[in-house]
Amino acid sequence: MSVGTQAKTPGFDPDTLREKYRVERDKRIRPDGNDQYVEVTGDFSHYVDDPYAGEDRERAPVQSEVEVVIIGGGFGGMLAAARLKEAGISDMILIEKGAGFGGTWYWNRYPGASCDIEAYVYLPMLEETGFIPRQKYTNAGETLEYCEVLASKYELHQNALFQTQVQNVAWDEGLCRWRVMTQRGDEIRARFVIHSNGPLNRPKLPGIPGIDLFRGHTFHTSRWDYDYTGGDAFGGLEKLADKRVAIIGTGATAVQCVPHLAQGARALYVFQRTPSSIDVRNNRPTDPNWISTQDPGWQARRRTNFESLMSGVPVKEDLVGDGWTEAFRDLFGRLREQTPPRWRLALWALQGLFSSRRRERGMKQYLIERAMVYLNLPQKMEMADFEKMEKVRTRADSLVDDPSVAESLKPYYRQFCKRPCFHDEYLQTFNRDNVTLVDTQGQGVEAFTEKGVVYGGREYEVDCIIFATGFEVGTDYSRRSGYGIVGVDGLTVSEKWQDGMATFHGLHARGFPNSFFFGPIQSGFTATFTYALDENAIQTAYILEQLNKRGIKRVEASAAAEAAWVEKVIKKARLTEGFQKSCTPGYYNNEGHVQFKPQNTFYGGGPIEFFKLMEKWRAKNRLEGLELQR
Ligand code: NDP
Repeated sequence: MSVGTQAKTPGFDPDTLREKYRVERDKRIRPDGNDQYVEVTGDFSHYVDDPYAGEDRERAPVQSEVEVVIIGGGFGGMLAAARLKEAGISDMILIEKGAGFGGTWYWNRYPGASCDIEAYVYLPMLEETGFIPRQKYTNAGETLEYCEVLASKYELHQNALFQTQVQNVAWDEGLCRWRVMTQRGDEIRARFVIHSNGPLNRPKLPGIPGIDLFRGHTFHTSRWDYDYTGGDAFGGLEKLADKRVAIIGTGATAVQCVPHLAQGARALYVFQRTPSSIDVRNNRPTDPNWISTQDPGWQARRRTNFESLMSGVPVKEDLVGDGWTEAFRDLFGRLREQTPPRWRLALWALQGLFSSRRRERGMKQYLIERAMVYLNLPQKMEMADFEKMEKVRTRADSLVDDPSVAESLKPYYRQFCKRPCFHDEYLQTFNRDNVTLVDTQGQGVEAFTEKGVVYGGREYEVDCIIFATGFEVGTDYSRRSGYGIVGVDGLTVSEKWQDGMATFHGLHARGFPNSFFFGPIQSGFTATFTYALDENAIQTAYILEQLNKRGIKRVEASAAAEAAWVEKVIKKARLTEGFQKSCTPGYYNNEGHVQFKPQNTFYGGGPIEFFKLMEKWRAKNRLEGLELQR
């Protein structure tokens, strides 16, 4: 008897839920996939203007030569700079298009903006800076404040060129340098370039008919117009008191700003295509005695503990104890409870040892896949997921007065098909008289007119439309980053990766010597993205330190090492293909068009395995896989 087909758990029927999930997914799949969005260029380019910068600070173009250029002043770029300085490398320029540090947090300062990964895990280098987050979950204001703390501690302002956009980065083999050109006429020659431009950096807009017709006010959440709304990242949007506002989208961003819009606006229309899963948040102040009593190394231990739980690596204790860890504890705990004795497992695995499948996959991968089938893991995980999502759906019933609105707000998909959200005021917002949920039944908004938004044949007249429609994912690297990269023999990154990603450790790409790409593809990904970025920074700093010690001027991934890494990533990624195909569309699964290119995914063994792999690679101290030239 397979779990989930005959067994009925009180309260829900797995077969009915499975069918409901399928129907909900199918009605959202669109033939245009990622092409449903329009790029913020041309007539739409004002959507990416910087509303926070104040005046443009003029400066003369910089013509110089440095050891390292870092592109991006978010956590990735800052951590790279900090780790390099710790390694004794300080000849660097950090280029950032915003007017200050922060990256994601510089741009996303919409009302309610906040991080729902625990601050003691999310904010990097807390022990180095001595900073104590004020609450378990930090907000945009405090995060930006922390970026300044980090920048001061590592004296990063002196290295930074703000309000500067890189336009092109080109390799000069004769000089063995990169030439970095910017929109301000800078030309910087750098021995090394670190690309840390942020995976969710380019806002996207829905390609809805009439989007350019609307005569009222519009903006994207990542460029919040406080001049128009009043208030700040903590709310108080008093200028909306006489305004009718529409917000398009109900992802993690909308979930946080909708309660503030509801408080400020005369009328708020929330246009929903797919509801988010909204679990308990339970934010609370930090106990000041708690951090001061932690032993040195506490943050690394806490991060490892959190990520271990999230990846199913057994731990004795759940140090973080929140909605994230609960979800994974339930998932993996259930599996462990039902695991048969090891000797039976081993015997069964041995039976297929000489099969062609084993030879194709490699031993470790083969054993993992075989164990999954034997233990019925996919079905057990599905059952745990059903239970979790039933709790989330029941929560909507308990907090929303109108049962039909509550039903509309219930997510019918596996929890990790989309970014899970945690919020304690969002659902109740729909009990307010001035708030209307426009459930577009998975279809999205139909059109815009001069006066407002159309759905279901009805025109909703509004003064302002706010796009909470997210960011480009899966588009060309240069389009997203906003600059071209031209490597050896004129090869561009767009050409290099047009048929799929190819890197070594996610960090190096053959044809682009002396370059380091920070990002989640082919690398260890975690929702605590700052953790993955710090690991990138540590790895990069180690390599540059070693190159200096050994008098190496040029470093490039070898063809064999890159090919082997791609192969490894592909083998690991196969585990998630079926799951992605079963999911409701979104940016996690290429809007439902899972033309699965396994090389375009994260390192499938999970972040902890990946970080350990990098640690072992460093411990060998051989710079294996890299071609080195003096
Ligand atoms: P998302 O891409 O997650 O959400 C975009 C929203 O726009 C979705 O609800 C989408 O619907 C909707 N949408 C798109 N097109 C249309 C349309 N034509 N009509 C109606 N709705 C439409 O972007 P976010 O900015 O919300 O979040 C991006 C990421 O940033 C998150 O996934 C998370 O990683 C991070 N983040 C983290 C936060 C945190 O820590 N709490 C807070 C905010 C962001 P559909 O789902 O149907 O596609």
